Amino acid sequence: MKTKNHKREMTKEERKMERKRVLMIISFFLWGICLLIAGIGVWKAATSAPDSSQNQSSENDNKKNSNKKTKTEMSDTGDSIETWTVWTTDQVRLRAKANGDAEVLDVIPRNTELTASRETGEWVEVTYEKQEGFVSKEYITTEKPEDKLTSQVQRPAGPTGGHVICIDPGHQSSGDSTPEPNGPGSATMKARVTGGTSGRTTGVPEYQLNLAIGLQLQQELQARGYTVYMTRTSHDVNISNKERAEYATSVGAEITVRLHANGAENTGLSGALALSPSAGNPYVAHLANASQTLSGCVLNAYCSATGMNNQGVQANDTMTGINWCTMPVTILEMGYMTNPNDDCNMQDRGFQYNMVQGIANGIDQYFGY
Ligand SMILES: [Zn+2]
Repeated sequence: MKTKNHKREMTKEERKMERKRVLMIISFFLWGICLLIAGIGVWKAATSAPDSSQNQSSENDNKKNSNKKTKTEMSDTGDSIETWTVWTTDQVRLRAKANGDAEVLDVIPRNTELTASRETGEWVEVTYEKQEGFVSKEYITTEKPEDKLTSQVQRPAGPTGGHVICIDPGHQSSGDSTPEPNGPGSATMKARVTGGTSGRTTGVPEYQLNLAIGLQLQQELQARGYTVYMTRTSHDVNISNKERAEYATSVGAEITVRLHANGAENTGLSGALALSPSAGNPYVAHLANASQTLSGCVLNAYCSATGMNNQGVQANDTMTGINWCTMPVTILEMGYMTNPNDDCNMQDRGFQYNMVQGIANGIDQYFGY
């Protein structure tokens, strides 16, 4: 069968061709694998090998957790020093030495970028505004903060040095008429603490206003670098005026600022005034000058920040909370709660902000900032 033979011959040819094709495919395939392996090798080498030429990146990898990127700088003396960048996580004190009792050189605001050069125990040596000093590790991070917003408070130039202030928000939720001496050794007895006045228009009791301003003032003063103690942070307490003065002494306060608001029969009376002891005070005459200075600073700054009527600094020797004091003291009568305008203003958040700024500015001024 001619056709059959021919067919068989063709099939033989085809088989040969097919074998060749299969061999070619296999060899191509093997080549492909070889190339792939070689490629992976080259890629691996390229990505992992040159650590030495990429010191910085290997350093970054090693310190990924701390995110601490060091760089080497030359010191003045020609030595090489390793420095890195840190940011403050809060207001932090720059101290002369690596301990909590060392002199405070400055107060650094939150989110400030600093160059760190040395670690010693819990402290890091940093440079801030060309000053070298130490900050506690607790208040710094090597992570760059998301928002570079510093404190919203624009503080006056110069450090505060961490002066200690006692704020006494006057009164409490209910008065205590139990008597206590009006001054050390005094036979005159006065109620431990009275109930205070209240807003004729708003109905807000004085003790609430005093604490609202007191707490905002505490925050503001702390933001400015002061150490602040509060005689009370809630209404439901029973602390006499004598005890408030003694508390200020116990915490080592340098000044006491007592916050009150006025009340009068005449609802037309408005404005602020400050009370301090006179030079003839039988208990605290030695504090009269400084107290009057403090009163003047606080009252004037307060009135200029709020636009309130300035009724001046008045001498007063009948206040138990003044007579038991051992440091300069002022009572700021922030306004008349019996005056509709003062009363409503003093409940306004924006107005309160100005009240607080004013008092804080006056304190800054007293301390010479
Ligand atoms: Zn009062």
